[in-house]
Amino acid sequence: MKEAMFYEQVKNAIKCGLCARNCIISEDQTGFCRVRKNIKGKLYSLVYGKLISVAVDPIEKKPLYMFAPGSRSLSISTVGCNFRCKFCCNYAISQEWTNVIGQQYTPEQLINLAKNYGVQGFSYTYVEPTVFYEFSYDTAKLARKNGFYNMFVTNGYTSPKAIKEISKYLDAAVVDFKGSANPKFYNEFSSVPKVEPIFDALLAYKKNKVYIEITDLIVPKLGDNMEDVKKLCKWIVDNLGDKTPFHLIQFFPTHKLTDLPRTSIKTMEKAYNIAKKQGLKYVFLGNVHNHELENTYCHNCGNLVIERTILGVKNFLLKEDFKCPKCGEEIPIFGEKWVPKHF
Ligand code: SF4
Ligand code: SF4
Repeated sequence: MKEAMFYEQVKNAIKCGLCARNCIISEDQTGFCRVRKNIKGKLYSLVYGKLISVAVDPIEKKPLYMFAPGSRSLSISTVGCNFRCKFCCNYAISQEWTNVIGQQYTPEQLINLAKNYGVQGFSYTYVEPTVFYEFSYDTAKLARKNGFYNMFVTNGYTSPKAIKEISKYLDAAVVDFKGSANPKFYNEFSSVPKVEPIFDALLAYKKNKVYIEITDLIVPKLGDNMEDVKKLCKWIVDNLGDKTPFHLIQFFPTHKLTDLPRTSIKTMEKAYNIAKKQGLKYVFLGNVHNHELENTYCHNCGNLVIERTILGVKNFLLKEDFKCPKCGEEIPIFGEKWVPKHF
C-alpha cells in the first residue's frame, strides 16, 4: 500500500484526480477502479508493487510499430481498471477479480529482472496502467535512469496533470479507442460517461512530447460505424499529424460479447481505406494474421520497409540511416534507432 498521488479532500470525502472519472470516495470506500481506497482521510493505492503479470513481449505486440521496432519490453500489470469493457480480453485481471492479488516487487527488482532478460524497455499494460500509477511512476523513473524506455498502453482516461508528471519518464503511449470513439458505444459497452477526456489526454501526451500511436477496436454491428472512423481519423490528422500510426484492431468474441463474430476482413479493409483517404500515412490492421497490412510501407513510394508477423518483426528492410532503400525518404521511426540484431 502506498499513499496515492493526485487527490484532495472534499467535505467528508476524497476526490481522486488521477483519471477523468474524478471519483468522490468516502471513508473505507474505493473508487471505480477498486484499487484506490480512502483510509482515514488519505487515499492509498492498494496495488503498489503487487504485480499480477510480468512478461517479456515484443514491442509490436503493444502495438508500437514505429517506435524501437524489434525491441522487447518487460510488461507489467496489477489488477484493476477504470473501464468495464464488455469485450475486454483481460477481464479476469481488469474486472472479475475479488482480492488484490499478485507477487510483491520493488522497482529495483524489476530493473534487475529487465537486465537479466536483456530487454530494452518497460511496458505498463494489460489493464489500464493509470490505476497503478504510483508504481509505474517509481519504476519508470528508475528505468529511465538505467537506460530503458517506458511505454503506456492506455485507454486515455488519465488526467492531463497526471500525464504531465509521468511524461518526465514516459517515452511512448499507445492510446486505445474502442468503437471509433462513438460516445454511445463507450457508454454502453465500457461504462464510460464521456469520451472528450481521451482527446484531452492525447493532446496532453503530445504537449509533453510523448510519442503516440493510436488503436481503434472495430466491433461488428455495435462499433463499426464508418462515419465514426472517418471522424476519428480526421481529428488525428488535424491534431496529431498525418504520420501518427493508426492501428485498426479486429474484434474477437470474448468476455460478455461471445455471441458476436470476429470483425470481417472486408470491414477492416473498408476502415483502412477510409483512414487512408483521410490522409493518415501509416495505417495498420491488428489481430489479423498474415495480412499484408500488418507491414510498414514507405509513405512516399509505398515500398515495403518492415515486414511483420503477430510475433513481431519478420523482416527489417531499413538500413542504419532509416531511409527507404528505394526512394530515400526518411521513415518516421522514433525511440532508439537500431537495426534489430537478428536482421
Ligand atoms: S483512478 Fe480510480 S479512484 Fe481515481 S478517479 Fe479514476 S477510477 Fe476513480
Ligand atoms: S480499458 Fe482495457 S483493460 Fe480496461 S476493461 Fe477496457 S479493454 Fe479491459
